[in-house]
Amino acid sequence: MFKRILIANRGEIALRILRCCREMEIETVAVYSTADKDALHVQLATQAVCIGPPKAADSYLNMRAILAAALKTGCDAIHPGFGFLSENSEFARLCAECGIVFIGPSGDVIDAMGNKSAARTLMIRNRVPVVPGSDGAVETAEDAARIAEKIGYPVLIKAAAGGGGRGMRRVFSPDELESSFAAARAESVACFGSGEMYLEKLVLQPRHVEFQILADNFGNVVHLGERDCSIQRKNQKLMEESPCKALSPALREQMGAAAVAAARAAGYTSAGTVEFVLSPEGEFYFIEMNTRIQVEHPVTEMVTGIDLIREQIRIAAGLPLGFTQDDVQLRGHAIECRINAEDPARNFMPCPGTVQFLHLPGGCGVRVDTALYTGYTTSPYYDSMIAKVIVHAPTRLEAIRRMRRALEELVIDGIHTGADLAHMILYHPDYMKGSYNTAFLEQHMDELLRWNETKEDEA
Ligand code: ADP
Ligand code: ADP
Ligand code: MG
Repeated sequence: MFKRILIANRGEIALRILRCCREMEIETVAVYSTADKDALHVQLATQAVCIGPPKAADSYLNMRAILAAALKTGCDAIHPGFGFLSENSEFARLCAECGIVFIGPSGDVIDAMGNKSAARTLMIRNRVPVVPGSDGAVETAEDAARIAEKIGYPVLIKAAAGGGGRGMRRVFSPDELESSFAAARAESVACFGSGEMYLEKLVLQPRHVEFQILADNFGNVVHLGERDCSIQRKNQKLMEESPCKALSPALREQMGAAAVAAARAAGYTSAGTVEFVLSPEGEFYFIEMNTRIQVEHPVTEMVTGIDLIREQIRIAAGLPLGFTQDDVQLRGHAIECRINAEDPARNFMPCPGTVQFLHLPGGCGVRVDTALYTGYTTSPYYDSMIAKVIVHAPTRLEAIRRMRRALEELVIDGIHTGADLAHMILYHPDYMKGSYNTAFLEQHMDELLRWNETKEDEA
């Protein structure tokens, strides 16, 4: 087993990894930017190394500084968390060149899945269902128009290098195609430095259903069930749950098998996620594979009892999986709410601030992953997600009630968050019935905000 792991991240995920390392009796090296000098991950690590100024490009994305810190402190492995360098194949290769284990898949696998258009092609070859769309990249708006005509409108123009819901445009009719293609491409160039685009049919009112995968270096691949991440804003997840209300045991088995096939096709190792959209008719289609631990991994941990970070570390250390597909049981129901420093009533405008008073919920079946403390000031340089509240209960209804209770207890004075909106969602009849899709938030936003105003007036 590793002696010392460097954690190349910040915030709640850095803490999450650090806690796991401590339980495994592995020493930790935290890295931090000058903006994070007081951060919890710095205080709780065995050692900490400053890697640069606040801007991510100069610190948490600074490969040389991070590798130098790992070498200087004698680390045998680096955990990248999510975001930052977690899907950077060059970094994975540089780690290997320095004799340091990158806790994740190989650089080649990251590349193979990182180009979403190429990943599609690989899936088609391995008989994993994909959304009807283009064969490979689409060079021009004219080509896009021709393909759209063939597959039928509406279509979705997507960036091959895309992530975080960016570089995507829905197109409902031919006259919008040219401008949408240009807009999606411009966004992709700005965000990802790549103008490579591809096309998919826009599946209407789909659910986002993803499968958690674990694969070791000995050819063992298992899935740990699904997460429904359909509560989204601008194609970005806000709330997630497991299991998904729409899956029968038979469909779960079918989609799980497709996810395992996808991982095998990629020669995947470590923890990963195979994302699908599921149509109202029960047809499912691969959309992408994320080659890292995911924000919403705790819901899977709650229903399976498996510590995913621990499994990632064990796999990276060359150990075989300690269980088989048959050993994996989904127990009860888990829900996660992402708490972002933003104001839903003002178009989700980011709301930085300083925590004046903090009360985190606890009690039976409640988990809070956060790096907040009283006096913590959010930094404009990093992601606005400041906490995740996760609950687990025997049934979905009990999990909903438990989450309502947990959010009622949560106090983060000094920072505007989306916690109240999440609380309102938990009372919406469609959410309660479990009959929702990725259009839910857009459709019900006004109604939810009105409820919230009424609640505040009454208070
Ligand atoms: P998922 O949320 O399913 O893991 P995303 O495509 O949303 O997948 O990508 C991960 C998200 O995490 C990105 O939106 C990124 O901006 C964000 N992120 C990156 N690093 C951090 C961090 N240290 N803390 C919180 N969020 C982060
Ligand atoms: P990213 O890399 O930004 O995470 P994804 O390809 O995973 O992009 O898609 C993000 C979200 O966009 C999905 O969760 C889903 O809500 C929506 N989406 C993606 N592809 C389609 C599609 N073909 N039809 C309908 N919705 C889609
Ligand atoms: Mg995705």
